[in-house]
Amino acid sequence: MSLLNSMLRLVGLKSQKSQLRKRPGRPIHVETLEPRQLLTVTYHGGVVIPNVHIQNVYFGSDWLSGNSTGNRLYNQTGQLEGFSKYIVGSSYMDMLNSAGYGVGRGTFSTGWIAGYNYNKNVYLNDTTIRAQLQQQILDRNSGVLGGSDPNTLYMIYIEPGVAVKLWTYTSVTSFLGYHGAFAGKSFGGSNIDIHYAVMAYPGSPNVTAQSQGFNNNFDQLTKVASHELAEAVTDPNVNYKSLTWYDDQKNGEIGDLANGYKIRLNGYCVQPEVAKNGALIYPTGYASYKFTGGTSTGFSTINTSSVIPPTPVNSTIVVSTSTPDTDKSLVTSFTTPVKKNASPAGQFAFDPTTGSFTISAA
Ligand SMILES: [Zn+2]
Repeated sequence: MSLLNSMLRLVGLKSQKSQLRKRPGRPIHVETLEPRQLLTVTYHGGVVIPNVHIQNVYFGSDWLSGNSTGNRLYNQTGQLEGFSKYIVGSSYMDMLNSAGYGVGRGTFSTGWIAGYNYNKNVYLNDTTIRAQLQQQILDRNSGVLGGSDPNTLYMIYIEPGVAVKLWTYTSVTSFLGYHGAFAGKSFGGSNIDIHYAVMAYPGSPNVTAQSQGFNNNFDQLTKVASHELAEAVTDPNVNYKSLTWYDDQKNGEIGDLANGYKIRLNGYCVQPEVAKNGALIYPTGYASYKFTGGTSTGFSTINTSSVIPPTPVNSTIVVSTSTPDTDKSLVTSFTTPVKKNASPAGQFAFDPTTGSFTISAA
């Protein structure tokens, strides 16, 4: 589909994955094979952002209102600041480095609320987002984003109630977030590539966090942000300049290829990524792991061959019948890693209406 050739990468809604992964063909790219390892995520000649400098920008006046009286959204900017500050200096970035993508830990600067009053009856277009980000960078009085350079990644969080539109795609029906780049100006007036990611706020008119398998809005925002961060540093100029790390066979960036997975890192909901051979990769210290299997009688013998080895942590194990972050029924506590047959028979009672289940750390 030619339209997508000119589009930013999207984080698809669950029901829209196949549509969003469609991309036009790319030239064949030959890689030397390592023994028994087919490298499917290949280098396409573009740049990476080796040590990203991230800064959150909160678009919309809702982020500001009532901030002196404990406004929930204003408080959430503090949570999102904490997340950005943590993730960019964490094992999450080490994970990408270890995978050989040429990127590692970066730096964080305090974010900025751009208190635009959006008309929530109309779409907020990506072209407007770009123009407003550019204006924030240039405006000495209203902006503190003067550090912009090609290593800067602006993580833009849109206020609730706003539907974002990117070409013909919208956050109502097609995506949770996306990242991209455009030709712009630094605060000093130099021509630079401006890199940014956009996170639409969960809930009407957009899809709810719960419908996408998240416990709450914050979990969705950080998961989508981790996806976009990993992609933005390994493929900063997608649909703008040369691709960098990209899987031609599956038509996706590294986050797209692990989009259906969630883990917890330092309490934050994030997603794993993929290595060059397409295998899932996890940051050191992550605290989520999946079991698959089960019986329809309400009890299960855990198949440890399907366990993703966790870093030992004291965890509360919960059983749910859907996604890893849907912490529905508290069962018991363990010190991980959980050993084979560690649970007494009957320990893992769960809803017998499903034949498979997921266990994750709370
Ligand atoms: Zn993506």
